[in-house]
Amino acid sequence: MINVEKLKSNFPLVNDMQQYKPIFWKNPHFRNDETFPFSLDDIEDAAARLERFSSYIRNVFPKTEKDHGLIESPLKAIPFMQQALVDSEHLEQSGKLWLKCDSHLAISGSIKARGGIYEVLKLAESIAIKECGLKYTDDYKILSESKYKACFRKYTVAVGSTGNLGLSIGIISAQLGFQVIVHMSSDARQWKKDLLRSRGVKVVEHQSDYQYAVAEGRKAAENDPTCHFIDDEGSADLFLGYTVAGLRLKTQLSNEGIQVDAQHPLFVYLPCGVGGGPGGVAFGLNQVFGDHVYCLFAEPTHAPCMTLGMMTQLHNQIAVTDIGLDGRTDADGLAVARPSKLVGHIMNSLLYGAFTVEDQQMYRYLYLLSQKERIFVEPSAASGFAGLKAVLKHTDKTHFNLSNANHIVWATGGNMVPKEEMLKYVAQGKQS
Ligand SMILES: *Cc1c(COP(=O)(O)O)cnc(C)c1O
Repeated sequence: MINVEKLKSNFPLVNDMQQYKPIFWKNPHFRNDETFPFSLDDIEDAAARLERFSSYIRNVFPKTEKDHGLIESPLKAIPFMQQALVDSEHLEQSGKLWLKCDSHLAISGSIKARGGIYEVLKLAESIAIKECGLKYTDDYKILSESKYKACFRKYTVAVGSTGNLGLSIGIISAQLGFQVIVHMSSDARQWKKDLLRSRGVKVVEHQSDYQYAVAEGRKAAENDPTCHFIDDEGSADLFLGYTVAGLRLKTQLSNEGIQVDAQHPLFVYLPCGVGGGPGGVAFGLNQVFGDHVYCLFAEPTHAPCMTLGMMTQLHNQIAVTDIGLDGRTDADGLAVARPSKLVGHIMNSLLYGAFTVEDQQMYRYLYLLSQKERIFVEPSAASGFAGLKAVLKHTDKTHFNLSNANHIVWATGGNMVPKEEMLKYVAQGKQS
C-alpha cells in the first residue's frame, strides 16, 4: 500500500498533482554518476540494423525514398510560433525554438514509427536468418519476396496499445507478412481501429484501460512460442529503436550549423506516456551530447505517471490512481497511469526535469502552431511547448547562457489523424 500522506510530506509537489495543477519538477539526481544497461554500441547496432533494412523500407514504403529508406523526420525552425509564445506568455527571448516533426514520420505518423517498427524489424531479421537463409550481407529488399512472407506468416506479433503503437506495429508487421493482433482499450479512437482492420490486423477491444489491454495481450502471448509480444512497459528493443533518434539529430543539428556545448545548451521537450519513446530519445541524446543536453518530459496533469514514479523513486511501483488521479486525458499516447519498469531507472540521472500540462493548454498550443506555422499535430504532441515557459522560469540564469540556447519541442504525432478530426482539434484550441 502507498502511504499518500507520507508521500505528500516528502514530496510536496504531490499536493499540487492531486489537484491537477500544472507543476514543474526539477530532478535532484540529474548528472549523478550512474551505470546504464545500454551503451553507445547498442545504439549504433540498432542504427546499423535500420540501415540494413533501408532498401526494404524504401521499396515497400515509397514515401521514405527521400530519406533513402530511413524513417526520419525534419527539424524545423518555428520562428512565428516562438514569437507567439513570447508574446502570449510574456517570455523573455531565449535562443531559438525548433520543432522535431515526428508527427510527420513516414509509415505511421508518430514517434512510434521509431521504436515499434524497429522491434518488428529486429524480430523479422532474426527469424529470416534462423529459418529462411537470410544473410546479414544480403540486400534486404528480398524480404518482400513470397518466400520470406511465408516464413513470417507462421508467427504472430501481438501488442497492447492505446493507438499509435498499435498503428506502427500493425502496419509494419502486416507488410512483412506476420499475423498481427492489437489489443486496444475500447475507448481508443475509432479511426485507428478501422485503419488497422483495413490492413488485415486483428483488433481486440477491451472494456478497460490501456494497462489492462497490455496485460491481456501479454497473457494471450505467453503460452505460444510463435507469438512475439511487444511489451511497451519494459522492452529493451523498443527503447533502443527510439535511441537512434539521438544519432540522427546530431547530424541534423550539424547540418543546420547548430552547436551544442557549454555556451550553447540544448533543451529538448519530450511528451511522455509510459516513457519508452521519450526515454529512448533522451538516452540517445545524452550519449551523443553528454553534459550539454537538457531533456525534459511533458505529461498531462491527469496522468503524470513518469514524473510521479521518478520523483518518489517508486517508478512502476506507483500509479497516478494511487494519489487519486483519474488518468483521463485527450492526449493519446500519454493517457498512461503507470510508468515503464525500465525507463525511470535509466533516466534517473539523465532527465533534467519534468512538467505537467492541462489538456486545454495542449489544444491551445496545437491551435497556435496550426495558425503560425501551418503545422498540424495531435494534442499530446503539442504538450512540449509548455516547457519553454517552465524552463525560463525555473532555471538558474547565472548557470546557463540561455540567450544562446536551442529549444527543441518534440512533436510526437499527428499525421495519421483524419482531416476532419484534426479540424475539430484546431477548433477546440481556438476556443480555449
Ligand atoms: C506514445 C506516444 C508518446 C509517448 O511515448 P511513450 O513511449 O508512451 O512514453 C507521445 N506522443 C504520442 C503522440 C505518442 O503516441
